[in-house]
Amino acid sequence: MKVTIVYDNTSARDDLEADWGFSALVTAHGRRLLFDTGAKGSILLGNMEKLDIDPRSVEEILISHDHWDHTGGLSDILEINPVPVYIPKSASGPSGLSEVIRVDEAVKIHEGIYSTGELEKIEQSLVVEVDGGVAVIVGCSHSGIGNIIRAAQRFGPVKALIGGYHGFDEFEAVEGIDLLVPTHCTQFKSELKSRYPGAYREGGAGRVFEL
Ligand SMILES: [Zn+2]
Ligand SMILES: [Zn+2]
Repeated sequence: MKVTIVYDNTSARDDLEADWGFSALVTAHGRRLLFDTGAKGSILLGNMEKLDIDPRSVEEILISHDHWDHTGGLSDILEINPVPVYIPKSASGPSGLSEVIRVDEAVKIHEGIYSTGELEKIEQSLVVEVDGGVAVIVGCSHSGIGNIIRAAQRFGPVKALIGGYHGFDEFEAVEGIDLLVPTHCTQFKSELKSRYPGAYREGGAGRVFEL
């Protein structure tokens, strides 16, 4: 499994644009799935090009939640490549999608790839089977990291947690996770870094994680 951060508040490479929002390309179990689309289509597609990711190679898109900094690039990429979009059931937008799968309960997207289901009526997270457990990709974690971990654990022990942790501060909830990449909207990065120095990794556009 490989996760490439395409869009983030910070950038790990000079040639990639940093902007408030989040998007990551997940390649796993023979599939290529785009998780969220950032805030602006031009930045999403520009960063993809510099990362050598052809938007036409994306097979489906999963939207964590209906906030502008995660859905903003959606219409631009769908214009190039109208793939199915998995979106939480309660989301009111975005409109004009070609093929929409509304996600309520936890669901298998493909062999080894799952959604936690919509949690707290706002957000879903992506769960991918890896060696010895699962990696979890999160948007803003508005539904709560504790809830997300509990929902993901039904698919295996959580080995990695990558994405926006928002105001998460119940730090003991992530104890034992091998890889922590708190990025995007995460408020308490430095606390997580000092508490879990072995697991902590910086996020940012251009970072690649392989599990
Ligand atoms: Zn949000
Ligand atoms: Zn966000």
